[in-house]
Amino acid sequence: MNRREFVLGSLTAGSLMMLPPWARAGEKSIQGLFGQNALSEMAPLQRLSRFGGSTEVEGDLFDEAHEIFWSKDSYLAKKGGIPAVSAQYDVVIIGGGIAGLSSAYYLKGKKILIIDGHTRMGGNSKSQVYGKNYISQGAAYITMPERGDEIDQFLGSLRLKQSFRKVEHEAEAVYMNGRYINGFWDGATDPAWADEFRYAHKKFLDVYENSYPELPIWDSSSAGRSHFNSLDGVPFTKWIQNELGTVHPHIMEYISMYCWSSFGASPDEISAAQGLNFLSCDLAGTLVLPGGNGLISEAVFQDLARRNNVTMLNHSFAVDLRSEGGKAVVCFKNSSNQLVTVSARQCIVASPKMVMKKVITGLSSAQEKAMGNVHYRAYLVANIFLRKKIPSLGYDIFALQGQVPRSEYEDSKNRVFADIVFSDWALKDVANQSVLTLYMPLPYDMAQQYLFNPDLYNKYLGRIKAKLTPALPGMGLTWNDVSGIRLVRYGHALPVAQTNGVKSGLFEAASQSIDNCIHFANQDNWGNPCFETSFGAALGVLRNIQ
Ligand SMILES: Cc1cc2nc3c(=O)[nH]c(=O)nc-3n(C[C@H](O)[C@H](O)[C@H](O)COP(=O)(O)OP(=O)(O)OC[C@H]3O[C@@H](n4cnc5c(N)ncnc54)[C@H](O)[C@@H]3O)c2cc1C
Repeated sequence: MNRREFVLGSLTAGSLMMLPPWARAGEKSIQGLFGQNALSEMAPLQRLSRFGGSTEVEGDLFDEAHEIFWSKDSYLAKKGGIPAVSAQYDVVIIGGGIAGLSSAYYLKGKKILIIDGHTRMGGNSKSQVYGKNYISQGAAYITMPERGDEIDQFLGSLRLKQSFRKVEHEAEAVYMNGRYINGFWDGATDPAWADEFRYAHKKFLDVYENSYPELPIWDSSSAGRSHFNSLDGVPFTKWIQNELGTVHPHIMEYISMYCWSSFGASPDEISAAQGLNFLSCDLAGTLVLPGGNGLISEAVFQDLARRNNVTMLNHSFAVDLRSEGGKAVVCFKNSSNQLVTVSARQCIVASPKMVMKKVITGLSSAQEKAMGNVHYRAYLVANIFLRKKIPSLGYDIFALQGQVPRSEYEDSKNRVFADIVFSDWALKDVANQSVLTLYMPLPYDMAQQYLFNPDLYNKYLGRIKAKLTPALPGMGLTWNDVSGIRLVRYGHALPVAQTNGVKSGLFEAASQSIDNCIHFANQDNWGNPCFETSFGAALGVLRNIQ
């Protein structure tokens, strides 16, 4: 593994010269890719009709799923039972997130049906556009691919590579108690201890360069597997103590916010392998598209929409899936609220196992138990629409307050957001009005229940106002400059990258193919919530079914 090759390659003066000056050309190239006419109701990239927030909460709709799964038998009985098969496909894909869309992308020449319960495809990777503002509603960035690897080729074939902007993390800024401070890893928040910050930073980069715990694991007997296992049995906090001793509280607080934001979990819960897999790689440099990873979903979606062998259905929620006579039989509720049954040689389950353990009939007890032992965390994202343009102070700025959190439940209520993303950063602030995106993970179990609250918007508006007020002056803002706030909610957004989850075989047991016709591709295949793993899980399934 040598990810550095791509990093170095992309940094050389020669290759920089070869890149188009896309800070100027970027908007044009983005519009060329995502022309106005191409946007449809189910597209991951949505065109906003007005710039501002609303009191409505977007995102996951729970009522329907809960009505179905509260008692699936009585739901099916009420609907007259599972209807007869009305269409046949080579492949049915349940879930149109990154994993589902990228599976379909590579399945050329097959008759494919993709169903997604949501209005828009893209899953957690969706975006919006208004004029020159590209706004992420979920996943924000990717890590540097190796030159020529599958991800590099994928992004190249989607014509996306020239639209990324690279985030350098050396001079990373943080927000701390009303101040934006550049150079976190140089000890800017506590210069007397600068060496400690530099040492920790170097240690993480050293892991990245010399002993990176890679996912997905393709070969279970490989050295990579045993290396991953050796780190997976250790909580991330313990690894930090073992390798770095008692670290400066600002470093530990940064790592906590990073883990909340990236994993929806604390560094005590997640394994060192999973923590290092994310953090060390991110510190080596990340790549950002305008509007975040929703533009990857959009590019794949548009490619698929042009193919006549692919059908995509939104508002189509899988209710039952079983293997019968060597085929996968899928029953889903369509956009007219009717049940439809289709069969396929192969089914790719690209949706969370949290839901699918209730959908699949005939799961072995071991697989059902494993699926039940994968935990998920809820998430809220707030887009803050501004009346004026402000210079981005960085891309993704973690919010610190000088204390290591003690209780995920209490502290997350108090802190409200873990990081602030400047939506216009990727296009070098070309927009006339700016948008801030607050990442508000709920890093503890059962937080989903709070997302049902009809007063959710007002409750969080109050919390956001309280916490954002001291952060506004440093950006040259007052509340008069805010034209609206919009919330997006995610019920089961992130699988918990729990300690021992990979080592014990838990995630793999939950993701076992069934009867060679039902296969799993989702970020939860490895409990590792990121683009790279969703994409890798899709490639893994394709190996099985092509
Ligand atoms: C707020 C947030 C920020 C994030 N930031 C980043 C980031 O910066 N970088 C990064 O790499 N990753 C990030 N992630 C992780 C992100 O989840 C992954 O990158 C990726 O988008 C996951 O894709 P997926 O296809 O595996 O799953 P999902 O995106 O969860 O897709 C699953 C799909 O299945 C559908 N579905 C579920 N049940 C059914 C059913 N019964 N029938 C039909 N359809 C169904 C859902 O509607 C959904 O579209 C973030 C996640 C969140 C929530």
